[in-house]
Amino acid sequence: MSRVLVIGAGGVGSVAVHKMAMNADVFSHITLASRTKSKCDAIAASVKQRTGVTVDTAAIDADDVAATTALIQAVKPALVVNLALPYQDLNIMDACLAAGVNYLDTANYEPRDEAKFEYKWQWAYQDRFKDAGLMALLGSGFDPGVTSVFTTYTKKHLLDRIDTLDILDCNGGDTGLPFATNFNPEINLREVTAPSRHWENGQWIEGPALSHKQVFDFEQVGEKNMYLMYHEELESLVKFYPEIKRIRFWMTFGDSYLKHLELLGNIGMTSIEPMMFQGREIIPIEFLKALLPEPSSLGPITKGKTNIGTIATGMKDGKARTVYVNNICDHEEAYAETNNQAVSYTTGVPAMIGAALMLTGQWKGAGVFNMEQLDPDPFMDMLNKHGLPWKVQDLAAPLAF
Ligand code: NDP
Repeated sequence: MSRVLVIGAGGVGSVAVHKMAMNADVFSHITLASRTKSKCDAIAASVKQRTGVTVDTAAIDADDVAATTALIQAVKPALVVNLALPYQDLNIMDACLAAGVNYLDTANYEPRDEAKFEYKWQWAYQDRFKDAGLMALLGSGFDPGVTSVFTTYTKKHLLDRIDTLDILDCNGGDTGLPFATNFNPEINLREVTAPSRHWENGQWIEGPALSHKQVFDFEQVGEKNMYLMYHEELESLVKFYPEIKRIRFWMTFGDSYLKHLELLGNIGMTSIEPMMFQGREIIPIEFLKALLPEPSSLGPITKGKTNIGTIATGMKDGKARTVYVNNICDHEEAYAETNNQAVSYTTGVPAMIGAALMLTGQWKGAGVFNMEQLDPDPFMDMLNKHGLPWKVQDLAAPLAF
């Protein structure tokens, strides 16, 4: 029985809070705080209606460390779950240290003026969390998060040695809109417009953004174009699995999405460089975010499925083996259960699971942890029980590309 403070009332925060309320034996008291309190209140009303559980709400600017520390001290949670934006990570970690409380997030810290997707700033908190006897769990979403746990599970149970790893992220959902991003638009566009990067034979290989395409036939979705990309779990996988010779990340994009992205990029709308507009400084991508639909508004209109998983090649008992571990999630079912589409669902559920494992002491430690460092079994077990069932398939051959 533990108190939890969730910060961030977007799609991911909404799913996590709904799922925590459905697991009241672990989450005895939930407080949801975000910049805009009315969004917290709307989520609390939905949770009350669906589960009967009361969620307390509060307004907080998590960039204000003193105010966040004071909120944590007032709420007295055992854990702060950060589901605001990556810009807030370090400030919320500072507030957790000041208040003496454990920390969890789903995305690594990003400085506003550089699209980096690197863990170095958060890994630098290792000694501070360790010395305080506190735990910070990084990246407990789907990717990073579940994909990292799939890899750990593969190494623990399916392969004695992993040689190559491909992460395949397919969103086969359709909103009917010409252009919308399924999680925070600013972060999403920073991610997909960054140069591609993968790990091969001890080094990073870079290429232009979205320039390497392959077709893959995703179960329950169909054939999709997927593109080689950089994604933040590659950094922690490389660190914790030095044996893997090649690690790649692929994400599917539809032609309409790419056409709009190209145009927006060509005219400078995806830039993160500040510029002057009518006497005040604006950042084009922040302005674009204001024009695009909020991911939390896409729930009622998204149809189709996500299919995300890992394909690993390697050796088991002296024989070559290729294994595919994946989850398929239906947008409409996710919406029916939590009022949010599957991309928020596939992130919010693992956030709830990571939080539950910390609160119940099944995952514990002092310091800053990535998902790869923890026992995959209780997490995999909870995925099956809480809406993200997975399966393992042996593939006849490795990927042909
Ligand atoms: P949204 O943009 O829908 O929600 C973000 C929320 O954070 C909003 O409620 C926003 O408030 C709030 N917020 C922003 N700045 C502050 C601040 N300074 N103080 C307090 N609250 C703030 O994003 P999502 O829900 O889609 O994503 C949430 C997080 O999950 C992001 O970090 C994203 O990168 C991560 N993510 C991780 C994935 C994974 O698989 N690991 C996949 C998808 C997302 P307001 O409404 O007032 O702006």
